[in-house]
Amino acid sequence: MKAHLPRRRFGQNFLIDQGMIASIVSAIAPQRSDRLVEIGPGLGALTNPLLEKLDHLHVVEIDRDLIARLKKTYPPQKMSIHEGDALAFDFATLGDDLRLVGNLPYNISTPLLFHLAGFAENVRDMHFMLQKEVVERMVAVPGDSECGRLSIMLQYRFHLDWLLDVPPECFDPPPKVQSAVVRMIPKRAEELTAKDEALLAKVVTAAFSQRRKMLRNTLRALVSAEQFTAAGIDPMLRAEDLGVADYVCLSNLLSEELRGVS
Ligand code: SAM
Repeated sequence: MKAHLPRRRFGQNFLIDQGMIASIVSAIAPQRSDRLVEIGPGLGALTNPLLEKLDHLHVVEIDRDLIARLKKTYPPQKMSIHEGDALAFDFATLGDDLRLVGNLPYNISTPLLFHLAGFAENVRDMHFMLQKEVVERMVAVPGDSECGRLSIMLQYRFHLDWLLDVPPECFDPPPKVQSAVVRMIPKRAEELTAKDEALLAKVVTAAFSQRRKMLRNTLRALVSAEQFTAAGIDPMLRAEDLGVADYVCLSNLLSEELRGVS
């Protein structure tokens, strides 16, 4: 087959380090009958070793040239190819207990993580390669300057595990940034204590809209001085000073008051 020229617009940095590929596959630990979905199989660096351990694999790929290669290489009984943009793909159509994996295109990693978080109920676990800087933001705790909307919303919904650091030499072409592999396991329903998740998202988005400002300013339209006091949260703090539990507490208080519960 003709050599494929990596396309920057699709974030194509292909994994080439066999040791690292083996470590990632071993972290995923695929079992024959798992319903595994790979986002962005590319030239198959992870796809091949995964398929050795699986009966079947779903892939979502946007690049037509790569799709043509996949079709030539893998028979339909081994691989279902979903052509198109993972950002617009309805993962729920693949059923539940899904295991999502991928060396994700870095140029869309944050919106893609938010999109995928919407399918948490259909997912058993996710293993993703991302820029290290994104993983740092995902696992950031209150007080870290990296703590942001991504940290709070993902930590609300998932248990996160930073598994591996991956240097640029493991890819062709090498990316300009360091990378890392993270595991995301959806929390059980009883761990999700927000009474109104849309309201939680609204409070978190407003708080981080101007992260250097105090909460009493960023949340002025949503939270009164009395409500800050009732939630035990100092309004002089900034968004990055609060953790998931604080945001859940604040949004639950608002939700109860909106519903007239005293
Ligand atoms: N898995 C391969 C590897 O590890 O070598 C390729 C990883 S490469 C970083 C990202 C892959 O995602 C490419 O195959 C690229 O074409 C694909 N991709 C980029 N944007 C996409 C999108 N919006 N939806 C689906 N796939 C996308």
